[in-house]
Amino acid sequence: MVQKEFKAESKRLLEMMINSIYTQKEIFLRELISNASDAIDKIYYKALSDEQLVFNKEDYYIKVTADKAGRTLTISDTGIGMSQEELENNLGVIAKSGSFAFKNENEVKDGHNIIGQFGVGFYSAFMVADEVAVTTKALGSDQAYKWVSTGAEGYTIEPGEKETVGTEIVLTIKENTEDEQYDEYLDEYRLKAIIKKYSDFIRYPIKMDVKGQRPKEGDDNELESYEEEQTVNSMVPIWRKNKNELTSEDYEQFYFEKRYGFDKPIKHVHISADGAVVYNAILFIPENTPFDYYTKEYEKGLELYSNGVLIMDKCADLLPDYFSFVKGMVDSEDLSLNISRELLQHDRQLKLIAKNIKNKIKGQLQGLVKDERDKYERFYKAFGRQLKFGVYNDYGMNKEDLQDLLLFYSSKEKKLVTLDEYVSRMPEDQKYIYYASGESNERIEKLPQTELVSDKGYEILYFTDDIDEFAIKVIMKYKDKEFKSVSSGDLGIEPDASEKQTEAEENDSKDLFEQMQTILAGKVKAVKASKRLKTHPVCLSTEGEVTIEMEKILKAMPN
Ligand code: ADP
Ligand code: MG
Repeated sequence: MVQKEFKAESKRLLEMMINSIYTQKEIFLRELISNASDAIDKIYYKALSDEQLVFNKEDYYIKVTADKAGRTLTISDTGIGMSQEELENNLGVIAKSGSFAFKNENEVKDGHNIIGQFGVGFYSAFMVADEVAVTTKALGSDQAYKWVSTGAEGYTIEPGEKETVGTEIVLTIKENTEDEQYDEYLDEYRLKAIIKKYSDFIRYPIKMDVKGQRPKEGDDNELESYEEEQTVNSMVPIWRKNKNELTSEDYEQFYFEKRYGFDKPIKHVHISADGAVVYNAILFIPENTPFDYYTKEYEKGLELYSNGVLIMDKCADLLPDYFSFVKGMVDSEDLSLNISRELLQHDRQLKLIAKNIKNKIKGQLQGLVKDERDKYERFYKAFGRQLKFGVYNDYGMNKEDLQDLLLFYSSKEKKLVTLDEYVSRMPEDQKYIYYASGESNERIEKLPQTELVSDKGYEILYFTDDIDEFAIKVIMKYKDKEFKSVSSGDLGIEPDASEKQTEAEENDSKDLFEQMQTILAGKVKAVKASKRLKTHPVCLSTEGEVTIEMEKILKAMPN
């Protein structure tokens, strides 16, 4: 038996790997399970072209076994195994991927299921293990081999004992230290959770021996212990299933299982894109605002899978801020991952997917506006504010996407209406889209400033959210109609003949107005006779762009 050393570069690389590439230690299990799945896939692909080889799906599985007392964690598979030479090449040379080579050599057409590509994942085992022992028997070989390493110092290979074809990896788990916990990687529940999180959709069963207690048969009052082999992963991801076979309940169940939220989603979208970029996605529009939604703590993002393996919990780049309420996942084969599979480079594919998704969500919301207004109003109550912020932010760059999704209370309809509905009802002589700002609809209704506009028979939109007026200023015009506050000086309404007298009236009251202005010095700019009042004696109005309501908000903002 000869002790072989890693090549010098490999040694440095290995140390770097173990200490810095991955931000989470738990992913070692994802990497080893992905390798096992690749090894089984290789038999599957070989069987496609080799008539001697029959692939019975039931014979292929991955097994994870923890031995707390012995501090070992074993991951075994019934995959293709490795010859002595392959052991040497694939596990002795870092950044060499046998799986990547396999894909190329075999021209595996739909070999996209094979996950391996960088040739580093295996070494992540050293993040949690003092020693890694790999016993493996290659398909078509009688001899098994055993590879053992304690990390950067090198490895040994010698003949080993193994009956069946496949690979068994035994990790000797590190002892807990003051800063780091390792015991958890021997804990059945923790291991199950890690498998569920990252490897739930690996296509072969991942089995574990699960211990538990259950009522004794025939005697419900007594418990008996049992141990049974369970398949931990669900294998077929819902997003790969045929849409026609899925019910709304299936999607709701998925939403619940994934803990996207505790509410019932208002809408789900299942996308199977097959164009410029290939991906599957399931998206949800929630009904309720998460408790931290309008705070800095809220993190937007979708789960991102590459080939059914979880890469990222919350990929923020997939959603614009104004759709940050959307929950769900995206799975794609087309992503360029970086070596740790954690971060993505600024990926063109990802950008395409994000754009695609944005348009889908927009389409869904527009559909709700049109056909399911009740639902949309429930959604709007929870997230409408976010849409308005979306209009306001980024200098109005997104207004085209969002303006048709806005709703405002209408003085005439006595309910929420869209801008489009407002404009379509405008009489020909009406120049502007009128709005009035205030604390509540009831308060606005009593504003003297609304009288003239209402009397004219024009509709007024009520702005009760502090962002409303700011958002509208960014939109500026909708279908060529400008927005106008009912309290602005010039309302663009021609006075009736009878009202022409105001000028004379103003002269009559000149002294009174001057007197008033002196008393209110510094509080108002001018006191004038007004044509807009009907039943009220007086009202405040503004000149210029900033209305009284906006001023209040600006003043309340911290500088
Ligand atoms: P990658 O999976 O990206 O290729 P890894 O470091 O995870 O890189 O694995 C290196 C190589 O070792 C794999 O490409 C594969 O050839 C081989 N290998 C690892 N684990 C197994 C296994 N369980 N069965 C067969 N071959 C394996
Ligand atoms: Mg791998």
